[in-house]
Amino acid sequence: MTIQWYPGHMAKAKRQMVEKIKQIDVVIELVDSRIPLASRNPLVEEIASGKPRLLIMNKIDMADRQATQQWKHFFETEGVTVHLVNSQTGQGVSTLPDAVHKLTAARRKKLEDRGFRPHADRALILGIPNVGKSTLINRLAGKKIAKIGDRPGVTKAQQWIKVGSTMELLDTPGILWPKFDDPQVGLCLAATGAIKEELLDFQEIAFFLLKTTLHHYRQSLADRYNLDSLPELTGTGEDQDKLVQLFDEIGKKRGCLMSGGYIDYDRVSEIIIRDYRSQKLGPLTLEWP
Ligand code: GDP
Repeated sequence: MTIQWYPGHMAKAKRQMVEKIKQIDVVIELVDSRIPLASRNPLVEEIASGKPRLLIMNKIDMADRQATQQWKHFFETEGVTVHLVNSQTGQGVSTLPDAVHKLTAARRKKLEDRGFRPHADRALILGIPNVGKSTLINRLAGKKIAKIGDRPGVTKAQQWIKVGSTMELLDTPGILWPKFDDPQVGLCLAATGAIKEELLDFQEIAFFLLKTTLHHYRQSLADRYNLDSLPELTGTGEDQDKLVQLFDEIGKKRGCLMSGGYIDYDRVSEIIIRDYRSQKLGPLTLEWP
């Protein structure tokens, strides 16, 4: 579900999150592997306020495997612990409590040194809408947890879910807003469905997808649309024309014509966006480290 965020919402979501995190040992930040930067909320670091953090790259099945490894390496070089997951099938989920447990070693040792028995690792999953928070919580819980709306302020009594013998997870995710200011980020979010495409120009999103695919996944593009040759982008003003020609070609192949033989660009755009989201173009990543 996508919603509009207003300053009041954001302030409230932030306040709620800061409050929640007081009871938490480990903050689990979830991102979409196809857009690992665009799907991060810039405030997580501030909100997590020094608590150990685990970055989960979710939807690995939808992303380019090589790019995902590059991203993992990139984040790890920055000192971030990364875990790769496919919440839909459960891949990577069973080892998650262990990854969390490692992050609480220092805290547990401190408590043990003072003669206390440490409680289970309390974790919270947070992230922007559509990254798969609910799917992952359901996976970890082994059952369907009632979903609250993707709206700050809509609350239900929170409960802890026991996951394995070492971890307890809050059953409601922390929902943060996506970044808005960078147009490139907006395109990534719209292309993956994390924000409403109506917020952006439909054709612009398709154009962005086509350009990215042409750059990094030429074979997938040629195969999907049965294209004999593909233009080479040179980073000059000519690229725009080449992309429009490619749009035309895909339009013709798909019968997206209006009266007078003109290409129906809205329909071509719709096809490209739909194909990307349903993985007809293959598992494709949209940003690189
Ligand atoms: P939330 O808004 O962050 O709670 O996201 P949801 O859990 O509602 O997931 C958003 C969409 O992504 C749903 O259609 C899920 O089925 C899908 N999804 C979640 N995780 C994965 C994953 O790892 N792989 C794939 N292919 N789809 C996923």
